[in-house]
Amino acid sequence: MLLKSVFLIAVLITTSFSTFANSDVNALANRVTDRSMIILNEVITQIGARPAGSQQEKNTVKLVADIWQQANLTRVQRQSFNVEIKGQVINSQNIWVTLPGDSAKHIVIGAHYDSTGVKAGSQGATDNGVAMALVTALAEQLSAYQLNATVTFVLFGAEEVGLQGAKAFVNQMVKSGQVPEPDSMINLDTIAGGDKLYIHSPTQTPYKSCNNTSTYNASPAVRGELLLLAKNKQLAFNLHPSFPGYPEGETAGWSDHAPFACAGIPIAYIEATNFAINGRDGFDGYSQSLHPGLWDCLDTSLQTACDRDTEERWGRIWHTGQDRLDTLETLHPGRLRAQLSDVSELLVDYLIGDVLTPRHGR
Ligand SMILES: [Zn+2]
Repeated sequence: MLLKSVFLIAVLITTSFSTFANSDVNALANRVTDRSMIILNEVITQIGARPAGSQQEKNTVKLVADIWQQANLTRVQRQSFNVEIKGQVINSQNIWVTLPGDSAKHIVIGAHYDSTGVKAGSQGATDNGVAMALVTALAEQLSAYQLNATVTFVLFGAEEVGLQGAKAFVNQMVKSGQVPEPDSMINLDTIAGGDKLYIHSPTQTPYKSCNNTSTYNASPAVRGELLLLAKNKQLAFNLHPSFPGYPEGETAGWSDHAPFACAGIPIAYIEATNFAINGRDGFDGYSQSLHPGLWDCLDTSLQTACDRDTEERWGRIWHTGQDRLDTLETLHPGRLRAQLSDVSELLVDYLIGDVLTPRHGR
C-alpha cells in the first residue's frame, strides 16, 4: 500500500512536471508565432515585394540583421554573392546565425526571403514572407534556451532566379568548411496559404540540377522524424500522394533544399498546397487552394477547372497578384496564422524537446 502511494505520488509529480514543461514549450511556440506575424507585417508594410538583386531584397537583410542584433545574437554571418541572370549581374546575400546546442548534431533551417511576381501584384506574403519571418523569429526566441542540436537559421537570397542563395551557401560556405557540414536541412518554402501542410523528402532519382549525382541524398529520415512528431502532437501534416514521376511523399528540386540534397545532406521540405486538386498539369501541387475566389471557375465536385481550356488562374497563390496579406486574409481568414502556428509548434518541439531549459552561460 505504502509502495503504491509512493508510486502514485511519483506519477503525479512526474505528470504535473511534464505538463508544466510542455506548456512552457507551447508558450514558447506561441511567442514564436506572434513574433513571426509581427515580422511578416513589418516586411510587407515597410518593404513589400523583394525581387532578387533589388534594394528591397537588401533592405530585408538589414531588417533581419537588426532584429537579431537586438536579440544579442553574436554569431550572425552574411555572404554576398554575384550571379548572372539573363545577361545581367545581380548581387544578393545570405544571412544566418548559428545557435550552439547540446549535441554534435548540426541542423540547418532555411527559407528564401526574395520574392517574385511583382508585376502581377505579389507581395511575396506566403512565398516566402511567412517562412522568412518564422526563421527570423525562431532564432530570436530560441536563443534563450538549450537546443537539442546546433542549429543554423539561414535566409537565402535569389531563390526565385535559380536557387542562387542556397547554391552559394552550400558550394562556398559548407564545402569550404566555413559552415560546419550539416547533418540535415529543413527547407521552409510557402508554409502557409495552400489548403494542406505537407512534409516532403527528395525523389529517389537524383535531381537534374545536381552537378554531381554520386553524392545525392534522398533519405526520408528527417521527413519521418517530423511526421512522427506531428502525429504525436496531433498537428495535421501530410504526405503528398503519389503522382507520376513523384512517389508518395517525394518532391522535386525546385526550392532551396535541392543544393543540400545534391551535396549529400538529408533534407525535409515543408510546404502548404493541395495535391488533391487536378491542376493545369495534373495533381502536381501547383494549384494550392480550392477557394473559388482563386479560380475563373472551379468545379468543386471534381476539384478542377470547369473548363480546362479557358481556366487561367487554377487556384494558384504563389507568384500571382493573390500572394498578398490583405487578399489572403479576406479569402482564408486566419489561415496564415494557423498554419504558421502549426509549423512553429512542430519546429520548436523538434529543436527543444519537452522541457524548456534556459541557455547555460547567459
Ligand atoms: Zn518560394
